[in-house]
Amino acid sequence: MHVAWGARNVRVGGGAPVVVQSMTNTDTADVAATAAQASALARAGSELVRITVNTPAAAAAVAAIRERLDRMGVDVPLVGDFHYNGHKLLTQYPDCAQALSKYRINPGNVGTGRTRDDNFAQMIEVACRHGKPVRIGVNWGSLDQSLLARLMDENAARAQPWEARQVMREALVASAIDSARRAEQLGLPGDAICLSAKVSSVQDLISVYRDLAARCDWPLHLGLTEAGMGSKGIVASTAAMAVLLQQGVGDTIRVSLTPEPGGDRTREVVVAQEILQTMGLRAFAPMVVACPGCGRTSSTFFQELAASIQGWLREQMPAWKEHFPGVESMQVAVMGCVVNGPGESRHADIGISLPGADEAPVAPVFVDGQRTVTLKGERIAEEFQAIVDDYVRRRYGGAAQRQPEEPTGAARGRAG
Ligand code: SF4
Repeated sequence: MHVAWGARNVRVGGGAPVVVQSMTNTDTADVAATAAQASALARAGSELVRITVNTPAAAAAVAAIRERLDRMGVDVPLVGDFHYNGHKLLTQYPDCAQALSKYRINPGNVGTGRTRDDNFAQMIEVACRHGKPVRIGVNWGSLDQSLLARLMDENAARAQPWEARQVMREALVASAIDSARRAEQLGLPGDAICLSAKVSSVQDLISVYRDLAARCDWPLHLGLTEAGMGSKGIVASTAAMAVLLQQGVGDTIRVSLTPEPGGDRTREVVVAQEILQTMGLRAFAPMVVACPGCGRTSSTFFQELAASIQGWLREQMPAWKEHFPGVESMQVAVMGCVVNGPGESRHADIGISLPGADEAPVAPVFVDGQRTVTLKGERIAEEFQAIVDDYVRRRYGGAAQRQPEEPTGAARGRAG
C-alpha cells in the first residue's frame, strides 16, 4: 500500500496507525474563530483538521490561521476543502496553497467536460509545485453526473442490468479511482494520494469501501457523510466504520456529526477516538468501565463518579501524554454494587466498587487486581481521584526510562 506523504509528522496509510481527523464549521475568513476551533479540535486529539476554503476571503485567511496556530504551539496539519473554485483559489492565493498541508479535491464539482479536466489539472499542478498531498474525495451528493450518465447508459445495454443503486456505487468508486490515476498521470506521486467515497447509508458505505480496497492500494479516508445528530450519527458512523476497520479497511477516519445547537464540535473527535480505542486499534485516553446500574444501585452517586472520573482523565491527557507514556491504555472501573463490582474492578488497572442498596456504605478500591483501601464518607470521589493520580505517577512516571514490561490488568490496548 502507498503511504500518503507525511504532513507535519502525520502519516496516513502504509500500516501507520489509523489517523483521527475532523473539520471546522467556522467561517474560514474569520481567522480568530477558525484558529480557535482548529486548536480546540487538535487539543481534543484531532491529528488533521480540515477547513473549508470556499471564497477569496477564506483563501486569503488561511496563511494567517496557520501562523496563529503556530504561535499557539498547535502543530496540527490543515487540510483545505475545495469545491467548484479550488483551481482559482489555489492559483490566485499561493500563500494559501503553501500554508495548507493537504488539499481535498472533489472530482464531482471541479467543472464539466474539458473545463473539468483543465481545472483538475490546475489543482494537481499546484499540489506538485508545493509538494502537497491530495485527497480525492468523491461524495454521493455531488457525484460526477457525466460519469454517472455514461455508466447508466452502459448498464442499460447489459443483458441483465444492475439495480440503479449498484450503478451509483460503481460511479463513486470509478470516479475516485479514475481521478487518482489522472492525478498520477499529471505528475502527483502515488504516495501523495488518499481516496474517499462518502455516502450516507451504512450498507452503501461498507460496499463502496470494500470495493475500493479491492481495486486500489491508495490509503482510504473513511467516513459516513451526513451521519446525523446525537446517538443516530454516532451509531451509524460506528456501525459502518467498525465493519470496515475490522477488515483492515481505512487509514484515517472522520465522524461527521451534526452538532446540537451550541454543542461542542470536539465531540466528533472524541467519538472517533472511542471507536478506535474500544476496538483495540489505538489508545488515546484512559477509559472508564462502568456498569449500567440497576435496581441494586443505591443512588446516582456512582453515575456521577463515573462521569466525573472519565472527564477528569481526559482533561489530564494533554499533560499526561508528555510525562506518563502508556497511561492512555489504562483502564479504570467504577461499579455500582457488590455483584460485579469487585470482579470488574480486579480486571481493571484500578477500580472502585461502590455500595449498592442495603450494602454497608463502604467502597473498596482495587489496584492491579488487589484490594487495597476501603473508602467511606463524603469524600469518596476526591479520595478515589487522588488514588488514581498517585497510581498514574507511580506506574507510568518512569516508563520512559524503564525497559518495556508486560502490561498488567486490562492495560493491553495498543498504543497509538
Ligand atoms: S454491578 Fe450491581 S449495580 Fe451495577 S448493574 Fe450489576 S448488579 Fe446492578
